[in-house]
Amino acid sequence: MRWVFLLEKFASIALASGDTEFYTPIPKGYAAGKTKYVVVTGSVMSGLGKGIFSSSIGFLFRTHGFKVSSIKFDGYLNVDAGTLNPYRHGEVFVLNDGTECDMDLGNYERFLGEDFTKNNYLTGGKIFASVLEKERAGKYLGRDVQFIPHVTGEIKGFIRSLAVESGADIILIEVGGTIGDLENGYFVEAMRQLAYEEGDSNVLFVNVTYVPKPSSLAEQKSKPAQIGVRELMSAGIQPHLVVCRSSEPITEKVRDKISVYSNVPPKQVVGIPDLDTIYDVPLLLKREGVDETALEVLKLKTRKHDAKLFEEWEQFVHKLKGAKRQVIVGITGKYVSIRDSYASILNALEHCEGNLGVRIGVKWIDTSELEKKGPNAVAEELQGVDGIIVPGGFGSRGTAGKIECIKFARENNLPYFGLCYGFQLALIEFARNVCKLDDANSTEIDPSTIFPVVDLLPEQLKKEGFGGNMRLGGREVELKKDSLASRIYGGPKAFERFRHRFECNPDYIGKFEENGLVFSGKAPNQPIMQVLELPTHKFFLGTQFHPEFTSRPLAPNPLFKAFVEACLKK
Ligand code: GLN
Repeated sequence: MRWVFLLEKFASIALASGDTEFYTPIPKGYAAGKTKYVVVTGSVMSGLGKGIFSSSIGFLFRTHGFKVSSIKFDGYLNVDAGTLNPYRHGEVFVLNDGTECDMDLGNYERFLGEDFTKNNYLTGGKIFASVLEKERAGKYLGRDVQFIPHVTGEIKGFIRSLAVESGADIILIEVGGTIGDLENGYFVEAMRQLAYEEGDSNVLFVNVTYVPKPSSLAEQKSKPAQIGVRELMSAGIQPHLVVCRSSEPITEKVRDKISVYSNVPPKQVVGIPDLDTIYDVPLLLKREGVDETALEVLKLKTRKHDAKLFEEWEQFVHKLKGAKRQVIVGITGKYVSIRDSYASILNALEHCEGNLGVRIGVKWIDTSELEKKGPNAVAEELQGVDGIIVPGGFGSRGTAGKIECIKFARENNLPYFGLCYGFQLALIEFARNVCKLDDANSTEIDPSTIFPVVDLLPEQLKKEGFGGNMRLGGREVELKKDSLASRIYGGPKAFERFRHRFECNPDYIGKFEENGLVFSGKAPNQPIMQVLELPTHKFFLGTQFHPEFTSRPLAPNPLFKAFVEACLKK
């Protein structure tokens, strides 16, 4: 058994002296060969959906009775995604433990049905921070600290720790960026070493690539994919599967060409054309037998068929695609041009589509424009809209227009669903127009407002800098008896994820309540208001948390579902 020998050798040498070319920290309890790895890389260009492929194959592994975990690597030097601008990088996803991470982790949670932690997410910044910390602590025993073996060793150690901690049978490793990028080169090298150390049939490599069909040629071209695979091979990695993304299904000619040039049998060249919904990808992979092929390469036998899980998924997709009823949801926001900034909200709505059998059309409302358009602009903009979502956000841009939309929804009995900032802006609207606190505001928008109805959380006052220091992660929400929120959740408690610095100023709670607003969700033991509702309204609900993060295809977030149901009641 090569791997057993190698791992023992590396581990003992690494511990015994600093004078060695090997550095492979093996976590306690690690059993080589117990966990299989699927490494997914991309070539030609980014944005092809490596994460969707990995999570889809991961879902199929679940239907074979395996426990699946995943890890996403991002090459940037940020330690986490908390400081990234969603306009450039897509939504910042938040895990239960408060980790702010790449939006792909959202897909993994949704497809794998697991709650992940900081150990499922790795960035260049995080790896280097840990290497430098160890160097300062003298942990490298006098060695010059190098990309190989130390940085690559750290990466393998991180992945193997996840194997131990998660107890997963299979770990999906998604390598962000594209093969050939300077940013992920050392990570790709670590994957080569991992495969060598773990041995045959324990690591499966997948290269996701692009097959264009230039309009001037009117035929699919395989050359970019060939070059991409060649680049991967020059890094010492032979893929087992080549996944071709394309607008239409790939032709046999393209499949054969890629097969010939990449030493991959034609049946291991898989085409994924553009589909209406990402949730269809597992079904397509199943039809192509990709799960079986992958298990064969990994020498794994189905542990226990979970036919029910697969059928439920099939039904969900079927209902989603066949929906006849339709509603239009207006979503306001600063980043309206980039759908990725609101990925989880769009996913949560899609979960409702498949669950309720309804098509949800989204109308994006650019509120920064709205402010300039005159008195009837809001009514015109919201014409034909069945409900409004005001999502999370930061800063003052576009807030005046959002507040006008909320006022319109409140006064016209139009379903309203405010998420985080949408909760706070609803408070401001209510304070100004119902409680008659003129110019009430959040100190985030106007630091010198005379009625600071939304203000910094006391715990935030002490904090400096920006990284990972908001009120973050999963927390309990105590629900008020007989409220809409408790009826929707079906009990006295909920557990949802937060990401905020500001809150409803406790000094104004009484004033709000006197005027008919109900705080139906609160933090246990702290006066932090977490859900608001208006009992006289058809559906007017705001949450200080982000319910979109916990929605799953087969279990939509209950608040989203209730909101869409309210939109359906014309
Ligand atoms: N800007 C608000 C705050 O920091 C809302 C944050 C959000 O919507 N995620 O509290």
